[in-house]
Amino acid sequence: MSNPILSKPITLQDITIHPVIEQQGPFFDPMVFFPTLTKELLEENRSWLEPYSLDPATGQIVLCVQSYVVKTPHHNILIDSCVGNDKPRPARPMWDMMKSDQFEKGLAATGLGVNDIDYVMCTHLHVDHVGWNTRLENGRWVPTFPNAKYIMADRELAHWIEQEKKDATVCPWITDSVLPIVAAKREQVVQSDFALNDQVVCLPTPGHTIDHFSVRVGRKDRDALIAGDMIHSPLQGRYPELGMRADHDSPQAGRTRRKVFDRFCDTPTLICATHFPVPSAATCCVKHWGDGYKFEAVEV
Ligand SMILES: [Zn+2]
Repeated sequence: MSNPILSKPITLQDITIHPVIEQQGPFFDPMVFFPTLTKELLEENRSWLEPYSLDPATGQIVLCVQSYVVKTPHHNILIDSCVGNDKPRPARPMWDMMKSDQFEKGLAATGLGVNDIDYVMCTHLHVDHVGWNTRLENGRWVPTFPNAKYIMADRELAHWIEQEKKDATVCPWITDSVLPIVAAKREQVVQSDFALNDQVVCLPTPGHTIDHFSVRVGRKDRDALIAGDMIHSPLQGRYPELGMRADHDSPQAGRTRRKVFDRFCDTPTLICATHFPVPSAATCCVKHWGDGYKFEAVEV
């Protein structure tokens, strides 16, 4: 196994945010990933997307798969939980039956173990955000973080339980990474504007999924927005209406991006964009760029 990709922690007064990276690489053809993207638009933007966000060798979009460990004076919180190990993902060969020690090593680098996590916050219930919710133990899926409450949005959870009931083969990650949490009574079902306390607050960012939330941590002017999947590539900053293939409601996702980036534009709020490649663009501030937005990497 290779050495873990380490990304520097971000300190906001008495809060520390540690990225925990499971994978990074060129994963998807941009024309497939963004169904309405045209060749012309891609060419127009190629020069600034390469090499970090668009791999010059393969032409594919570079994505990071990561979690964030947030240490506050009161709690240790894991936001999203990557893909996970030993999970059958026939539709995604690169994530099928993964046996990776990257997440484990990344978590160890934060100085915490699985018993130290008080909350796991699930921005949404997609395959690359819930995987380490559970791990395989004697042939059963058990909560990876035995002392944690797993925070999930109510409509998000209801939607996916329903999908799983209809056809479990389309969302195997619900079967092995979400339902076992509910069976173990470790879930805490909330509304997507839930506040854990005044320093950890969910912000509803619907569209990519039905009840997606982002998480704002810190205090005014010393804060960060952990975006989850409200954005996948900086290209969606320049063109907020550019939808991605797995969106539940692409027009709504576009409106969400515009609203959120407008709100945080030219403020000191850091944006931690889960899928942006590190270390180039994972921590940034939002600025105007024509009719859209750009992300300026910030040294933290
Ligand atoms: Zn994702």
